[in-house]
Amino acid sequence: MTLGRRQFVHLAAIAAASAGCSRQDRAPAFTTDPFTLGVASGDPSPDGFVLWTRLAPDPLNGGGIDGDVGVRWEIASDDAFRQVVRSGTATASAELAHSVHVEVAGLEADRWYWYRFSAGDAVSATGRARTMPTPEAMPDRLSLAFASCQHYETGFYTAYEHMAAEHPDLVFHLGDYIYEGAARPRVRAHRGEELASLEDYRNRYALYRTDPDLQLAHAACPWIVTWDDHEVDNNYAADISEQPDVRREAFLERRAAAYQAYYEHMPLRASQIPSGPSMRLYRKLSYGRLAQFTVLDTRQYRTDQPCGDRTQPPCEGASDPAATLLGDGQRRWLFDALRESSAEWNVIPQQVMMAQVDRMPGDDVRYSMDQWPGYAASRDRLLGFLAESRVRNPVVLTGDIHTNWVNDLLVDFGDPASPVVATEFVGTSISSSGDGGPNTEYAEGVMRDNPFVKLQNAQRGYVSCEVTRGLWTARYRVLDRVSVRGAARQTLAEFAVEAGRPGAQRV
Ligand code: FE
Ligand code: CA
Repeated sequence: MTLGRRQFVHLAAIAAASAGCSRQDRAPAFTTDPFTLGVASGDPSPDGFVLWTRLAPDPLNGGGIDGDVGVRWEIASDDAFRQVVRSGTATASAELAHSVHVEVAGLEADRWYWYRFSAGDAVSATGRARTMPTPEAMPDRLSLAFASCQHYETGFYTAYEHMAAEHPDLVFHLGDYIYEGAARPRVRAHRGEELASLEDYRNRYALYRTDPDLQLAHAACPWIVTWDDHEVDNNYAADISEQPDVRREAFLERRAAAYQAYYEHMPLRASQIPSGPSMRLYRKLSYGRLAQFTVLDTRQYRTDQPCGDRTQPPCEGASDPAATLLGDGQRRWLFDALRESSAEWNVIPQQVMMAQVDRMPGDDVRYSMDQWPGYAASRDRLLGFLAESRVRNPVVLTGDIHTNWVNDLLVDFGDPASPVVATEFVGTSISSSGDGGPNTEYAEGVMRDNPFVKLQNAQRGYVSCEVTRGLWTARYRVLDRVSVRGAARQTLAEFAVEAGRPGAQRV
């Protein structure tokens, strides 16, 4: 391992210097726009949020800047910046790819702000961010959208244009923000071979971030992000690559590069700065007492997939009690957070599908051991805990599978009459798998054979949720295609969960 403790200290010191901005920085006059990757905010608290940008006048070729650069930031209470309430200068350092992560504090709770950056004579786009309500507040309403799986080559990000137009308070990204594969041009094209080095990952994030619809959605509100597998390598499990010939040490070096590039490109706090191949991404956020979000990382700590990735059931290893998706540390943290929560809605944004759909119609459909059913004991333990501890109104938000699902989560999937303990809203992909379709015949078969499944659909899009104290409403937004820009948005279906009554009902 070349990256380890020393590298961590180094990165942390750079981040501290960036935040404090004690050094003299060059402020060059740019000949081309350095703000090609847009702006973002994330991980809001009641008194602040993270502001993000990255200077990259030549985004697809390493960025195009040498040395450290001072970046000025401003936060205003109005979109014309007449009332600037906070400002400062951060250092965009070469070591962190000239990314900037400003952790702002001291703002008023539960309100919108506007922000922008400048460097030399260049000014960024303006973004909108909001603070969370205070911990004791019970807000009337929260609107959030969630998304996942945005393979650049298979489609345009029109879904994000529609999402931004809804003006959500928060956006959750549930993983597969980039795809690591070699260029295989379809609607659009990656560059180069499968990602391996830090430079490769940086250039891939930059390619994705040049997309105008993605930039629009990042600028619209704070994002709360987590990753799945493709931010590193398809279907990896902790330190194990899917390719059998890759040594653990070599894979961890690759993971370290991938995690660092992820941190560099996301609006994350200093507590998420990676330490070599480790990065603490699971974390808790609260929207007053209305909702608590325990954001999971089901990739970094999991045991290997049983029976290979995809197989026909039954797979004996799937019920191995030692198998885990969360790892012990994260599981204990999650159970503590849920036990101590006083929130009306206990939301678990995470990656892979939790419901156990055993009976899938069709010849080519196999059972994915990469999802919670491959770790059934781990899932049963979580769902059993939700039931026994009477966790208030648990809602699971899921990505990964490139299809829309609404699932009631049963305490025991082995017994169809077992009680419903939570609801899982699974969002389709933004673009991955390309133009989709309603998939009607398959969907009807799945719902007939698995009565806890309330919706199944294979169009592209995202899910928009409205949350009040008494009701969670999920609206499934779909696009008829992503192979051309500008597709119209339709609402496929609307589902609601009533507080105190687990299970989804079609509206
Ligand atoms: Fe995906
Ligand atoms: Ca995935």
